Amino acid sequence: MASHFNILIVGGGQAARRAAFAAHTALVHGTIGILGEEPHPPYDRPPLSKQALLRADGIEACTIIDSGTYAQANIRLLLGDAVVRVQRDQHLVHTRAGDQYHYDRLVLATGSRPRRLPLPDEISHDVFYLRTKDDAVRLGARLRAGARVVVVGAGFIGLEVAAAARSLECQVDVIDRAPHVLSRILPAHASQAVQAFHRTAGVGLHLGAALDRISRNATGGLCITLTQADERPLTLQADILVVGIGVVPNVELAQEAGLEVGDGILVDACGRTSDPDVLAGGEVTAHPVAGRAGRHRIESWQVAELQAEAAGATAAGAPKTYESLPWFWSDQSDLNIQMLGHTPANAHWVLRGPKDAAHSWFALDREQRIVGVVSFNSGRDISAARRAIQSRRRIAPELLADPARAWRELLSQPAPDAHHPLR
Ligand code: NAP
Repeated sequence: MASHFNILIVGGGQAARRAAFAAHTALVHGTIGILGEEPHPPYDRPPLSKQALLRADGIEACTIIDSGTYAQANIRLLLGDAVVRVQRDQHLVHTRAGDQYHYDRLVLATGSRPRRLPLPDEISHDVFYLRTKDDAVRLGARLRAGARVVVVGAGFIGLEVAAAARSLECQVDVIDRAPHVLSRILPAHASQAVQAFHRTAGVGLHLGAALDRISRNATGGLCITLTQADERPLTLQADILVVGIGVVPNVELAQEAGLEVGDGILVDACGRTSDPDVLAGGEVTAHPVAGRAGRHRIESWQVAELQAEAAGATAAGAPKTYESLPWFWSDQSDLNIQMLGHTPANAHWVLRGPKDAAHSWFALDREQRIVGVVSFNSGRDISAARRAIQSRRRIAPELLADPARAWRELLSQPAPDAHHPLR
């Protein structure tokens, strides 16, 4: 006979954990289950591309709470099995192992999977993706001093791995087809600081490059040929290849169950899908975003935590909205990058601080309102920008650009003349 849960959560990651505890807070005596494919209890992913690679015991940084805490909250962990079908008319899910579970409310927190690069099987032993604890342990074991590491993708994964590998004295090259690093989220001028940081650390950056071929060389290593931005060919020899070329949301279960899906499972601000008894949480969702029209899928720790918390609380009968400004951070050795808000293509950018030290780029709209910020080792600018964005305060660009002007002064200045908007 199928077991029954008041709240059943599909997916065993950060979003599942956060949704489960939010549901427990709202429904203290309810039964809650987490069905996760990995054998590990939910863990935090950010350390996977940092501490977990740097030290043998670094993987411990991923542990958030122990299994006993779940039991105390009446949350049952059903791990090492995957849900393969949701029968919404029966309020029932089926797992790969052949088990069935009934639910009153279901929360889909299925996350994302790494986008794969089509590669020959014969090199798979030396190819690494990074999404799970097991991936990090496997990769960490190969990052030894002198190892030749080629990374495909200059996004968060690629650059964080590159920074960790350089700290471990590996030889590192990063390849991206985009003309600058972090191209999905940073404008070219803001990415210069990141590029300079990695080049100074000794990373070979090959941007605007096309990967042509990856094969085994005569000595058993990898031979990677590419066409550089200036059309010249280049061959790199490597011991391992790390691929960080983005993720794909795990929407298939929702799609097959007939839920509305776009670029992510479509949900409202409380995490409700098109079925009132099915919610979705975390980065698999396309949700309303503060300051933007429509619904968007945002790959960030914040969404896995706070949007999933809203979905879990709502599932348990205590509707909660997620309305945080988008916020990301990345630690690449001692470079801390943070982004808050939005950086529209037509933004007017203002630099605050010297480019070769801690500084921030502010995105202003036509009315001289800060709508977004990217900061480098300058967390203080992020908290000040948050206040400016939330209060929709206009700030004269020339004052903002002057680091001698304290934030207290900027945030209390009379608003500049609104009749002369930025072009
Ligand atoms: P990402 O940030 O999307 O970056 C992937 C990069 O790879 C993009 O620049 C992409 O360029 C490039 N790329 C795609 N296909 C390529 C190809 N065939 N050859 C060369 N370059 C190619 O993704 P990611 O770094 O893999 O990160 C994966 C996920 O982990 C994301 O959800 C990310 O947010 C999360 N993560 C977050 C953090 C953090 O917040 N600190 C840290 C690690 C991971 P195009 O844009 O042209 O495709």
